[in-house]
Amino acid sequence: MIVVSACLVGVNCRYDGGNQSNARVRKLLKGKNFIPLCPEQLGGLPTPRSTSQITRGSGSEIISRRSRVISFEGKDVTRQFLKGAREALKITKLSGATRAILKDRSPACGVNHIYQGKKLVKGIGVFTAFLLREGIEVRDESGIGCQV
Ligand code: SF4
Repeated sequence: MIVVSACLVGVNCRYDGGNQSNARVRKLLKGKNFIPLCPEQLGGLPTPRSTSQITRGSGSEIISRRSRVISFEGKDVTRQFLKGAREALKITKLSGATRAILKDRSPACGVNHIYQGKKLVKGIGVFTAFLLREGIEVRDESGIGCQV
């Protein structure tokens, strides 16, 4: 069983109501059991929604409450990101998945990069941080493992 960011397999769950359907990922998952998850939606955020960013550090600092996730309008959405990541982790564990393919550069699913301001920096999303703590192997849509 493989967990995958829902937007990578064509679910319109992205902040702008679109998806990030990825031919490589779809090919890789062909004939395999997988679960598409969108942690931001599972946290109760609507689609479409504002973009959000981790203000300092990365997903691990959100879990330890040393940083916050703030929306483009300045709303604190840390609670929704934590709830969504916990829900997604719960489903991951129930499914018995040991691997995940997630969308890099997302504040929830980022594998090696996240945005801070307009800058792309090294870092992991909130859901990714939860998965790594549980020993789940996480790779991005290009097949690159977490190196942060
Ligand atoms: S939270 Fe993850 S699954 Fe949902 S839209 Fe963002 S990158 Fe895709």
